[in-house]
Amino acid sequence: MNDSQLLRYSRHILLDELGIEGQQQLLASHALIVGAGGLGSPVALYLGSAGVGHITVVDHDTVDATNLQRQIAHTLADVGRPKSRSVQQSIAAINPDVQVTVISQRADAALLNDLVKNADVVLDCTDNFTTRHAINRACVQHRKPLVSGAAIRFDGQVTVYDPRDEASPCYACVFPESSAPVEEQCATMGVFAPLVGIIGSVQAAEALKVLVNVGKPLTGRLLMLDGRSMGFTELRMPRNIKCPVCGHH
Ligand SMILES: [Zn+2]
Repeated sequence: MNDSQLLRYSRHILLDELGIEGQQQLLASHALIVGAGGLGSPVALYLGSAGVGHITVVDHDTVDATNLQRQIAHTLADVGRPKSRSVQQSIAAINPDVQVTVISQRADAALLNDLVKNADVVLDCTDNFTTRHAINRACVQHRKPLVSGAAIRFDGQVTVYDPRDEASPCYACVFPESSAPVEEQCATMGVFAPLVGIIGSVQAAEALKVLVNVGKPLTGRLLMLDGRSMGFTELRMPRNIKCPVCGHH
C-alpha cells in the first residue's frame, strides 16, 4: 500500500480484526454485484469506499425518475443511463483505486456461470425469483459465498449462503424453485426508501467479513427486519439434504 492508501484506509487498518493485512486482502478481492438498484447502490458504494479492489456490476436496466427515491448511487443526471455505468461513476468519484467492470445486460445462467467463477464473493441485489435461483445455482457450482438481500414495503431479509460450509443451506434449500411465489416486482410494490439502505448495508458488511474472514457471518441464519417496529428477528435455516441444487446426488 502507498501513503495515500494508508491514509484512506486508516480507520480499517486501526481495527484489530482487519489491520494492514485485512485491508490488503480487500484490495486483492473481487466482488460480483448483481443488480444496481436499491440494494446494489449501498452495496457498491460501501464495497467501493472500503477498497474492494475489483468490483463487477451487472444490471441491464437504465435509471429512471422513480429510482431516485431510494437508489442512492444514481443522480438526476444519470436518468436514462445504464445503472451499471452510473454505479461505476459513483464509485470512481469516491475511490479511483477500485477497478469496476460494467456488464449492462440481463444476468442469465450462462453469463452468471462466467462471472461467478471469477468472483470471491457474490451479492444478490436483484428483485426477482428467477434470477435469484440462477445466481444460487452458479454459486453452488463454483463454491462461492453468496450474500443475499431482499426488501419490499417495510420488510427486509438478509443472509449468507456459503457452499464451502457443509452445514450451510443454499437459496433453493430455503426457497425451493417449485414453490415460486407470485412475483412481487418493485415496479408495482411500494418500498420504504431507507429499508434498502439498511439491508444493503448489512449485505456490504457481510461481504467484507467473508472476504477477510472476520467475525461470524450470517450463514445459516436469516435476519428479518420489520421496518414498522424496527424489529430484527433471526431464523435458523437448516440445509435440505434433498435439495435439487446443493443436495447429495
Ligand atoms: Zn440447497
